[in-house]
Amino acid sequence: MHFRSAPGLALRMQGSYDRCDHPADLNPETDVTAPGAQLRPFVERRRPNPVEDYWPESLDKIQRHLVGLELANKALQESETKFRDLFEGAPLGMFQTNPAGKLLEINYAMARILGFESVDEVLEQAAREELPAFFNPDEWDQQRLPGKESDVRSGIELKVSCRNGEMKWVRFNIRKVWNQGRLVRFDGTAEDVTDRKQAEIKTEFLAYYDLLTGLPNQTLLHERLVDTLAAARERGRRIALLLVELDRFKVINDSLGEEFGDRLLQELAARLRSETVKDCVVARVGGAEFAIILPDVDDVCQVRAVAKYLMVKLNAEYCFLGQTFNAFCYVGISIFPENGADSEALMKRSDVAMCRAREDSPNRFAVFTEEMNDRLVERLTLENGLRQVLARNELFLEYQPQVDIRTGAITGLEALLRWKHSKLGLIPPDNFIEIAETSGLIVPIGEWVLRKACSQARAWQEKGLPAVPVSVNVSAIQFRQQGFSELVGNVLRETGLSPELLELELTESLLLSNADVMSSTTAGLRELGVTLAIDDFGTGYSSLGYLKQFKVNRLKIDRSFIKDVPVDADGAAIAIAIIEMARALNLAVLAEGVEKEAQLAFLRKQQCYTIQGFYFSKPASADKIGELLQTGFGHLISVGAA
Ligand code: C2E
Ligand code: MG
Ligand code: MG
Repeated sequence: MHFRSAPGLALRMQGSYDRCDHPADLNPETDVTAPGAQLRPFVERRRPNPVEDYWPESLDKIQRHLVGLELANKALQESETKFRDLFEGAPLGMFQTNPAGKLLEINYAMARILGFESVDEVLEQAAREELPAFFNPDEWDQQRLPGKESDVRSGIELKVSCRNGEMKWVRFNIRKVWNQGRLVRFDGTAEDVTDRKQAEIKTEFLAYYDLLTGLPNQTLLHERLVDTLAAARERGRRIALLLVELDRFKVINDSLGEEFGDRLLQELAARLRSETVKDCVVARVGGAEFAIILPDVDDVCQVRAVAKYLMVKLNAEYCFLGQTFNAFCYVGISIFPENGADSEALMKRSDVAMCRAREDSPNRFAVFTEEMNDRLVERLTLENGLRQVLARNELFLEYQPQVDIRTGAITGLEALLRWKHSKLGLIPPDNFIEIAETSGLIVPIGEWVLRKACSQARAWQEKGLPAVPVSVNVSAIQFRQQGFSELVGNVLRETGLSPELLELELTESLLLSNADVMSSTTAGLRELGVTLAIDDFGTGYSSLGYLKQFKVNRLKIDRSFIKDVPVDADGAAIAIAIIEMARALNLAVLAEGVEKEAQLAFLRKQQCYTIQGFYFSKPASADKIGELLQTGFGHLISVGAA
């Protein structure tokens, strides 16, 4: 703003010749208009003039005033420039909206937050109402901090639609601006917090969801189960909790690859989701274990029907990544209120039912019964007992001869573990090995078996009996322990057994797992001179590559294939295939579970000459074996057959 002199002021400053306007001022001598006045030449008479009289002083004042104004104006300009620079160049987004939330002014940082390169572009779009308002004044009250009535809202985090529909998380501080009691504007600052927010959302997601399948995890399942139970209690309804487990997932993962395993889990998750109704909760609760909450069920029959339907849908062929696989799942079911009153009880009971389904249900699903609970108690009793089994000296070994059917000579002895429980009596290994494995107790127990078998083999030799190799079953958990080959070396040294008289029996699944650990352990064992056999061959997911890779020496054909030969054509075909494959790979082969003459004849025909089974001997005590080592089984071999 510039000061300009008023025109009137300029006129007045030129000086004036006053005329007297008041009758009292009229002087006949001087005033021609006065009555009786004589006309006299006009005499200029100057009356005192304040402006003129004080002219220099006024001018000075005005000038000073002008200078003051000029300075104030300049300061104002500078201040405005300063604040505009601050506004426009601020790294924080700033904006003003009208009371309805429509953008009036923004700075460059705000334009950038909204995904634009220029401020004008944003304001134009906002004017054309093409840019959705990011701030809704109607929600002002909802954004109030509890207990605080204020014109300022701080730290409001909103999802904002930016250019091209891109969504960003923006943190706002907004204040109401009033003028004479009327709301005139909202002023605010904004900060793009998308990265932080996404990290937060991801963290929250990870806390409640499974990353691989996108399903709720155990934590969220628990929360949902608690809520569903509360609703069911209120409405007097039943709910069912189904636990679904994919059979032998570890082996699938190891043999077909982790990528395949992951895809399979994703596929199962998707099927579970699509085959259950919307209000069911489907969660992933473990490696290959899923849970389903059926929130509103009438009776057990209805739940069984759902389980059956799911089994049909899940137990199917899966083809991807160039592989085809037939999946099998088991389902364990518990029902509220019959089987449990809270989430923990239901989870436990469904788990117990699932174990039962895995063990012996032909339908592959089971609904919890109290009798199953007894088994759970029994299992816990066994686990507790196993913890003290070594201290109480309750374990012992039996040995089963491996026989050359051409001569009847004992060519090997398999050490088989037995547990004589102080109260429960003799417990077979099938009833406790798995418990020992899951509790980790198999490690010290397995070491005991190894030491005992080696020292017994040495003891027979010292008695002058024929030296035959002893086979020791090794659990995958033991084998994967660091330093396993060193342990074997130490035991051999301690007992004085020569390494070629020790064979370790491994399962197929073991060879497929963690190739690195396997390679170094098998290399260490080979260096010692110990031999390796694959036990129960044909029941795992066999791959020929690993047999060569790990330099396995012998295959033991699983009993199930031998059981009904030669009548069972499928079993016979598998047994023949394994025998031929072993021959082709130059591996030794043994048939397990031979009980009958017909089986013996079949194996002889296939030139599988080493067998183990009740036909010759059941597992027997060390003393009994001592006798058998002397006699052999030549008397059981008919001359013609040999
Ligand atoms: P396995 O290693 O396959 O042992 C052979 C099993 O078949 C033994 O059962 C044996 O008694 C049985 N068997 C042998 N011949 C016949 C036959 O002609 N007919 C029938 N019906 N069965 C026969 P067992 O002793 O009950 O052992 C069962 C399994 O427990 C073993 O199967 C092995 O996997 C495991 N096991 C035994 N001892 C140990 C051990 O010290 N450590 C580990 N990790 N597992 C062991
Ligand atoms: Mg064995
Ligand atoms: Mg076996």
